[in-house]
Amino acid sequence: MRLTILGGYLGSGKTTWLRHQLHAGAFGRVHVVVNEAAEIPVDDALLGGTEGPTVLAGGCVCCTAGADLVKALRQLCDRRSQSDDPSQRLERVILETSGLADPAPIVALLQADPILTRHIVISDIIVAVDAAHGLAQLAAEPLGRRQVEAADRLILTKLDAADPAEVARLQLTLRTLNPGAALSGAVMGSATTLPAPPIGTRPADLPALVGGEPAPLLPVRLSLGNDPDWSALGVWLSALLHARGDEIVRVKGVVRTPAGRLLLQTVRKVVQPPEILPTDDSRDGLDNGIVVIGRGFDQNDLRLSFQHFTGVAQT
Ligand SMILES: [Zn+2]
Repeated sequence: MRLTILGGYLGSGKTTWLRHQLHAGAFGRVHVVVNEAAEIPVDDALLGGTEGPTVLAGGCVCCTAGADLVKALRQLCDRRSQSDDPSQRLERVILETSGLADPAPIVALLQADPILTRHIVISDIIVAVDAAHGLAQLAAEPLGRRQVEAADRLILTKLDAADPAEVARLQLTLRTLNPGAALSGAVMGSATTLPAPPIGTRPADLPALVGGEPAPLLPVRLSLGNDPDWSALGVWLSALLHARGDEIVRVKGVVRTPAGRLLLQTVRKVVQPPEILPTDDSRDGLDNGIVVIGRGFDQNDLRLSFQHFTGVAQT
């Protein structure tokens, strides 16, 4: 079963976006789990037309209420295993997180559960960013930055309510914080084209947060060559995460194996179980390559270390 984690700061428009996506049938046979820590309770009817929602209230699943999430997901796994008709089986769970949640500890929590790791693949982390208020939130809130950094997909919501110059600056700021994420726009939950930022637009100068301002995240693309050595890659990756785990925000790679194309991902220090991709899924055009996104290291040093371990020349 696939799990989509939907995050975003308080009031970022997650529910509106999700409702429209569900209505458009974007997620197949899906069960929605909503976590409300600080928000006013959702009207269940908002998410009508799908199974659920399971509402987890009274605590945030990234910290205080993690056990509730594990329990709810285990129940969904059980129900799926007991269903006789494969055509009716649940395909996906969407977890709409509380606006206070950091996606990374949720990933860590699920990966630490022996039952969930066998039944659930975290397929994507989608983070909604309010087009009008995103810059202010990023400037003031470490949490807002952590959410953005954890995303595979960033969705700028409420584009119709935002000043175009602010949206342009926000786009460039998000690119700086998370160069690897796909960026798109939405109005009332429907996808809309993001205008290209005018020439001369600059990302916002985000002020230092308590504990000092972190260096910008940089992506490094590494080639695995034509005949990837899975074990050398594994050793290198765990050594990297042990030594520099706090500085590596995300690793994503696609490795060709005899069993198929394998998707490899980490969020912070957590390595997700590899997932076989459908053959038509050319995610980010990655093939026998990995992208490391992090800060505080020299890109060339990383390439050299990888080359040394795997013997694959990096250009
Ligand atoms: Zn939390």
